[in-house]
Amino acid sequence: MSLLDSALVRLLPAVPKPVVQLFSSRYIAGATLADALQVVRDLNAGGKLATVDVLGEEIEREEETRAIAQAYRDVFAAFDEAALDANVSVKLTALGLDLSYELCRENLLDVVRTAAAFGNFVRIDMEDASTTDATLRLYRELREDGHDNVGVVLQARLRRTLDDVRALAELRPSVRLCKGIYLEPAAIAFTDYEAVRANFLRCLDALLESGCYLGIATHDEWLIGESLARISRRGLGPDEYELQMLLGVREERRDELVAEGHRLRVYVPFGEEWYAYSLRRLQENPAMAGTIARATAGRMLRPLRL
Ligand SMILES: Cc1cc2nc3c(=O)[nH]c(=O)nc-3n(C[C@H](O)[C@H](O)[C@H](O)COP(=O)(O)OP(=O)(O)OC[C@H]3O[C@@H](n4cnc5c(N)ncnc54)[C@H](O)[C@@H]3O)c2cc1C
Repeated sequence: MSLLDSALVRLLPAVPKPVVQLFSSRYIAGATLADALQVVRDLNAGGKLATVDVLGEEIEREEETRAIAQAYRDVFAAFDEAALDANVSVKLTALGLDLSYELCRENLLDVVRTAAAFGNFVRIDMEDASTTDATLRLYRELREDGHDNVGVVLQARLRRTLDDVRALAELRPSVRLCKGIYLEPAAIAFTDYEAVRANFLRCLDALLESGCYLGIATHDEWLIGESLARISRRGLGPDEYELQMLLGVREERRDELVAEGHRLRVYVPFGEEWYAYSLRRLQENPAMAGTIARATAGRMLRPLRL
């Protein structure tokens, strides 16, 4: 990304919401469960799996967290009714982590138990580094209480992650490994692009060594190649790992990977709370910052219709 683009990316929060919505619509299934189900149906028809995220950021009240848990119950029932091949991803702050650990635990248990009743699975997304300890603690508590239909996410960006992999190994966890979207200070995170890649592979090796089920969540072609080479050297079958990508990103490559026989899952967010998620996606899109800046300038000349 050029210096100009990096500067523009930092200005994205100042861009009018309708412009952000226009450019981020490819990353979001829509506002309603019906929108998400349609996207999942299409993905399944193309041989892909899905994980559905009920967008619920900036949650401030207990009732809102209960509503998110209810929304996930509805999602499982709808998957079941439509016989869709999909699981869910949850953010612990949406389930109340910032309000109280106990409230969050209660909501998460509710979602995990509902998933189990439908023979389904819950992936706990990883948020910024202030939540890592609580997230891993909650994950461990659930597993130690016998809830095996739950997995977690680890971020290669964080320096601690290899230690976290080693600490979790005894649980044979289901882990989604990603670079990590939240930019953290150098004291706790790798800030250099190549260093994040190198740590991704160190963590991937350690996770494979521990015999866990691995979701490899990246669109980085070099990392996809290196990861698949390692999987192949270990002789893993197609049901022993999966590749994961975000809705709206590298769609042609997704198709190729499925045609090559890999299991591929697409992250499908839906809901009214699209703004914070959209900003994160746009900020990591290398081609987008300049385009949005031009569109914003254009909008000042003539009003945009949405
Ligand atoms: C399924 C899934 C779940 C995730 N869950 C989490 C999570 O729980 N916690 C967390 O911190 N992070 C999560 N992430 C985000 C992840 O940490 C990275 O921020 C994100 O995937 C971008 O990193 P990358 O590995 O794709 O590499 P990059 O180097 O960022 O991207 C490689 C290439 O992919 C393409 N690309 C990447 N992003 C975009 C985009 N938004 N629009 C257009 N093209 C793009 C570009 O061609 C880019 O050059 C998740 C990612 C995926 C795929």
